[in-house]
Amino acid sequence: MKKVYLSGILLLLGITVMAQTGQVPSGPAPMKPEMTEFYEPEVRVVQPATILGMAPSDAIILFDGNDINREWEDSEGKPTRWVVRDGALVCVKGAGIIRTKRKFNDFQLHIEWRTPAEVVGDGQGRGNSGVFLQGLYEVQVLDSYNNRTYRQGQAGSIYKQYAPLVNASRKPGEWQTYDIIYTAPRFSSDSTQYFTPPRVTVLHNGVLIQNNVSLRGPTLYIGIPEYSIRKHGAEPLVLQDHGDPVAFRNIWIREL
Ligand code: MG
Repeated sequence: MKKVYLSGILLLLGITVMAQTGQVPSGPAPMKPEMTEFYEPEVRVVQPATILGMAPSDAIILFDGNDINREWEDSEGKPTRWVVRDGALVCVKGAGIIRTKRKFNDFQLHIEWRTPAEVVGDGQGRGNSGVFLQGLYEVQVLDSYNNRTYRQGQAGSIYKQYAPLVNASRKPGEWQTYDIIYTAPRFSSDSTQYFTPPRVTVLHNGVLIQNNVSLRGPTLYIGIPEYSIRKHGAEPLVLQDHGDPVAFRNIWIREL
């Protein structure tokens, strides 16, 4: 809008010069540095964390080590059976998913997770959980330390769609971080297709493993995700119960 306004002024200036001097100007008025320097609206100040990984001042704290029920509920909107143990939120087998009471569109998410120190099972059966963005698109949580599985199913994959760029896993029993930047989809006017698909960037333990990938559709266990999907708006964040006692802590989100 500012650009159009500026062009209009330049055009008018040119016409005025022509009318007054009778001369045809040789070109548009010369640009000055201040023509591309804007002060308003002023960029908002945010207090960054003093310790890396902790929440900045404008984040919503989704789990602070104490109360599950303030921000989370089960799939029916009831109190979850997941438990708090040593300041971490721990999945209880059979309790089902948990979801945030709030709903989100575009966001930056920080979440820390830990698979059990005692290794049980292999492949998809070892420390499996997941972070479902808008409840539909899974960033896989798995013990992928010396544990081969299909590449689009290991830790940091966008499940069944994108393998991580590298395997940045720590050992089982150690805390790991995901920093996720998510852009929600926009939908076509008939609501059956993405106008722009969901886009995801993930850092695993500070290492870039998903670089602004475009998703094909909601996560499926069987079959190929399609662009033809149901329209949705803001949706909750969901953590998966895959039967393993995976722990989570220090969960915060910034709406964008
Ligand atoms: Mg999973």
